[in-house]
Amino acid sequence: MSENEKKDAQPQGISPLFLMVMLLMVGYAAVAYYKHADANSAAAEPAPQVTMTTPPAIIGEPAPATRNAETGRQIYLTFDDGPCKNTPQVLDILDRYGAKATFFTVGSFVDLYPETAAEIVKRGNLIACHTYTHEFEKCYASADAFFAETEKWKRAVQKACGSLPERICVRFPGGSTTKYAADVREDIIQRINYEGYRWFDWNAADNDKWPKGNTKGLSDTEYFMQSYQECIGWYQDTPDVPVVFLFHDTEEGSVQILPIILQDLIDRGYSFRLLSEHPDWG
Ligand SMILES: [Zn+2]
Repeated sequence: MSENEKKDAQPQGISPLFLMVMLLMVGYAAVAYYKHADANSAAAEPAPQVTMTTPPAIIGEPAPATRNAETGRQIYLTFDDGPCKNTPQVLDILDRYGAKATFFTVGSFVDLYPETAAEIVKRGNLIACHTYTHEFEKCYASADAFFAETEKWKRAVQKACGSLPERICVRFPGGSTTKYAADVREDIIQRINYEGYRWFDWNAADNDKWPKGNTKGLSDTEYFMQSYQECIGWYQDTPDVPVVFLFHDTEEGSVQILPIILQDLIDRGYSFRLLSEHPDWG
C-alpha cells in the first residue's frame, strides 16, 4: 500500500460503523496470522501489519496472567528513566498480562516518586540503577563520579523501598557505548565487576527516544510499533537469544502501545523475565 493509499485509508470523518468493521477486519487478520504462525513457526513470515488507530485499539480480550513454558523464548523488558507519573500505569499493564520487568530508575526521580519506586518492588519487579542525575557530564566525569552517582541512587532507593536489591544492576545513561562514556567506560566496568554489580545494555528497543529514524511521517505510536516489530523480527529464527528490550516509561507513546506489545509477545511464545534471571547475571 503506498503512502497516499495509507493516507486515504485513515479513518478521517468516517462513520463509527465503518471504523468498527475495519477494527474487526484487523482483528480477524491478526488471528489468522497467529494461527498460521503457530502451525508453521519455523517459516520466515513477515511481521504482521498492525493498523494503528488513535488511541491504539486493543484487539480482543487481554490475555490472562500467562507465562509461556519454561522452554519458550525469553524476553527481559526494561523501562528506563523513571519513576515518573506514567509508571503506575505501566505496573498495572504488566500485572494484567502476567509480565515482570526491570526498571532502570534515576535516583533523583526515586526521591520525587518514592511510593512509585516502592510499588515497582512490591509488585515483584526489579529496581535497578540508572545513576542519580542521568546527566552525562556528571556521570562520566570519572569512574569515581559514576560511583558517587550510584551511591546516591542506593541511598534514594533504600529510603523509598526500605531495602536495596540483593545485587545492584546498572545501566549506563545513553548506553555503555555512548561517546560521552568513552574515556571512562573501561574503568567503570572494572569497578562494576569489583563491586559485584552487574550491568546491561539492550539488544532491542521501540526507539521511543530516537525519533530520527521516523522518516515517513508516522505517528509516534506507529513508529514505535514498527520499530518493535522490526526488532522482534531479528530474533524470529534465533529463539535461544535472550532479548533485552528497552522502553522508557517516561514516553507516553510506549505506555499506550504496551498492551498490544505484551499480547503480541505472549502470542509469539515469549515468557517475561527479570534481568536477575538472565544467563549473564552470573
Ligand atoms: Zn536513560
